[in-house]
Amino acid sequence: MVIDLRSDTLTKPTPDMLQAMWAAPVGDDVFGEDPTVNALEEKLADMFGMEAGLFCPSGTMTNQIAIRLHTGLQTEVICHKNSHIYLYEGGGIMSNSHASVKLLDGAFGKISPQDVLDSINPDDVHAAETTLVSLENTMNKGGGSIYTLDEIKPIKEICDQHGLKLHLDGARLFNALVESGESPQGWGAMFDTISICLSKGLGCPVGSVLLGNKADIKKARKVRKAFGGGMRQAGFLAAAAIYALDHHIDRLKEDHSRARSLGRMLMDHPLVAEVLPVNTNIVIAKLSGIDPTEMLQKLENKNIKTVRFGKDQVRFVTHLDFDDAMLAEFGKRIMEL
Ligand SMILES: *Cc1c(COP(=O)(O)O)cnc(C)c1O
Repeated sequence: MVIDLRSDTLTKPTPDMLQAMWAAPVGDDVFGEDPTVNALEEKLADMFGMEAGLFCPSGTMTNQIAIRLHTGLQTEVICHKNSHIYLYEGGGIMSNSHASVKLLDGAFGKISPQDVLDSINPDDVHAAETTLVSLENTMNKGGGSIYTLDEIKPIKEICDQHGLKLHLDGARLFNALVESGESPQGWGAMFDTISICLSKGLGCPVGSVLLGNKADIKKARKVRKAFGGGMRQAGFLAAAAIYALDHHIDRLKEDHSRARSLGRMLMDHPLVAEVLPVNTNIVIAKLSGIDPTEMLQKLENKNIKTVRFGKDQVRFVTHLDFDDAMLAEFGKRIMEL
């Protein structure tokens, strides 16, 4: 049995999800005529108390569209130096939006209100105009760390005072919400736009949704077309998402509890120096006396797949296709390394 913990994007649709996909009524979504896509966009917007949604092929696209909406020539985005929008989206902030970036530091991938305030450029001929702050929840590179609403509020106030837009890369927002117990509406009220991935913990094959107000989503639809993301009978994919929103949110807690167990197993391992606090479904282990490449090979020899995460770390992600039997087997196999 292969135990694949490289990512929560590796899951396959469940039989029930596939049934829902086969049964979906569809139409041409570029014409706005796919009833299932429209239903998904409306369902997620309603959940978050936001006006509208836009279904896109990837979370990179929803983030990049949001950045395009909130920036322009000679503008600047504030985000954490380890954020996905900066590190893992192919340099898109520059190539798609021609915007500059101010990178902040902060423990577990989170930025502080004071640092945001200090990073806003002065209204000065020399400086790029700061127009956008982008946050990530959960924070992938922070080890699946969580922002609480109380941490967001002062950042939102600063944005309001300085006329900045606030975007959330919520690729794993539901992982955060099932842990904190906070409501989606509370989050919807804080942000101009939110990107939500359906292909991560929720277990869909494809897709992300961008949420925002009607005017922004209307513009976003046009940007999506220019990015090549207008899909036709995309309702088959949207049906998977509707199914996941109805059936796969609460179960994220299981992924988190398995991740905590997995973290404890690794903590006791002689090749592991430290495990970052496990808050959700991501476990980051700092290695001791072994190079990540060598560690990955050792794990691979035991049919465990994972990825390198920085110069002395490896990352394990739990998901829908990782069950208790695999967890027990994982524990056994790592003792044989
Ligand atoms: C996965 C991910 C995205 C989007 O990735 P896609 O593969 O383009 O869907 C965005 N932000 C974070 C934090 C992610 O983990």
